[in-house]
Amino acid sequence: MKYIFVTGGVVSSLGKGLAAAALGTLLERRGLKVLMQKFDPYLNVDPGTMSPFQHGEVYVLDDGAETDLDLGHYERFTSGRLSQLNNLTSGQVYENVIKKERKGDYLGATVQVIPHVTDEIKQRIYNVTNQTDADIIITEIGGTTGDIEGLPFLEALRQFKDEVGHENVAFMHATLIPYIKAAEELKTKPTQQSVAKLREIGIAPDVIICRAEHPIDNEIKRKLSMFCNIRPEAVVPFVDIKGTIYEAPLKLHEEKLDTIICERLGLATNEPDLLEWRNIVDRIVNPTHTVKIGVVGKYIDLQDAYKSIYESLTHAGAANDTKVDVVRIDSGDIEAEGAGKYLEGISAILIPGGFGDRGIEGKIDAARHARENNVPYFGICLGMQIATIEFARHACELELAHSTEFDPSTPHPVICLLEEQKEVTNMGASMRLGTWETRLSEESRSAKLYGATTINERHRHRYEFNQNYRSQFEKAGLRLVGTSPDGTLGEIVEIPDHPFFIAVQFHPEFQSKPTAAHPLFKGFVAAALENRS
Ligand code: GLN
Repeated sequence: MKYIFVTGGVVSSLGKGLAAAALGTLLERRGLKVLMQKFDPYLNVDPGTMSPFQHGEVYVLDDGAETDLDLGHYERFTSGRLSQLNNLTSGQVYENVIKKERKGDYLGATVQVIPHVTDEIKQRIYNVTNQTDADIIITEIGGTTGDIEGLPFLEALRQFKDEVGHENVAFMHATLIPYIKAAEELKTKPTQQSVAKLREIGIAPDVIICRAEHPIDNEIKRKLSMFCNIRPEAVVPFVDIKGTIYEAPLKLHEEKLDTIICERLGLATNEPDLLEWRNIVDRIVNPTHTVKIGVVGKYIDLQDAYKSIYESLTHAGAANDTKVDVVRIDSGDIEAEGAGKYLEGISAILIPGGFGDRGIEGKIDAARHARENNVPYFGICLGMQIATIEFARHACELELAHSTEFDPSTPHPVICLLEEQKEVTNMGASMRLGTWETRLSEESRSAKLYGATTINERHRHRYEFNQNYRSQFEKAGLRLVGTSPDGTLGEIVEIPDHPFFIAVQFHPEFQSKPTAAHPLFKGFVAAALENRS
């Protein structure tokens, strides 16, 4: 097994996860089997309980693990399907160590960061190694070198390299090369210092990925090479990309990142076959049509809160030879000023998942606007619940209808707590999570788009469609066309008498790839195109 560990220096939000994922693409397209994972030094057991303000989107895996959004990049950039083993946090590490201590596994010993915590981290890498048939494991370490909480991880990796052999482990360090406008110069000092910090810990990077706003010349490479003790060609520029993030593998390939890594690890492979990838990038960057799609949410100002949704729209756009112009609309603004002002000129409306009651009425207004004006509507998770509440209120005369999440005493709980949720007291990892099967009615629009009547999608919710209202809804024109195999859980509602009105309880955005746009997103963008004014 070969290992690549990706660390970050200077600042966060460098695109370290993207660089790691892009390297995954390149190695996979050289014919290697690649497994990607992330170690996060924070103390939460998983990011499931964190607000999007803290952490961006929570990405859900097949097995129900709630993980860091970088795992979304990994699944979109490589063909791997990841599992809960692939996102380790300090919270999990300490939880395991303390459980072992209570059991008596360390009887007699003082339990310490070194060796007990570091052993636990190394053990995870060995466990993953034993359970995969991959040729290479790429592990990204969250945070920035120098963070106190990251130290046990770096120490574990230092030890790990000695255990499995220097020739099997490469370290890639992503840093920022800031541009000082007044001096008109790129500065290498922060990178030098961050590499010095790593070397103090006993890790010498083999490759430095240099994120910069301006091209990096040979002089900078030479300087970094000298101060950081690496070959000049292993100083790899990663200059801001204007077109699409999917260009990252192509840019890094131009800088020979994959060649350098393969040489370093003694991996004999052919050049990567990037034809399909180049085609995708070309389709994303040079589309024929443009369409405006409104995403109505409450975390609209955050770049990362609906990451997978935005990516899925890009994939579906490419599949329709269309640039999707996402118009981010704050549901609070609709609440304050009405839907008309914000949804004017928008060809389709998407309401993503969410929690908590802020902005809910604005979302309901947006769904109503879509339904009444024949604007294509795609509801995802909370977006499905919103569509249901809206329909109950305005098409079934259940004026006070609501979800019990937002109004526990509503007389018409059209969305209510899942039976299994009624006993739940712990908030962590306790939703209905992961991949579950859904059966579709044959004549539904969804079944036509999927080309199947049995599908598997990932879930993350506590509340469900209340089937006591099903026949009332169906008479008024909203059909439940997808359910769990036993029929008990509502999964998809549609309005057949509408150009495109599909709302799903699951999260299709976690399975869309640039190489395979999700069928519902693809159909949605096609409907948006038809509705262009
Ligand atoms: N808050 C809703 C629920 O828990 C929707 C969840 C979501 O959109 N992910 O069911």
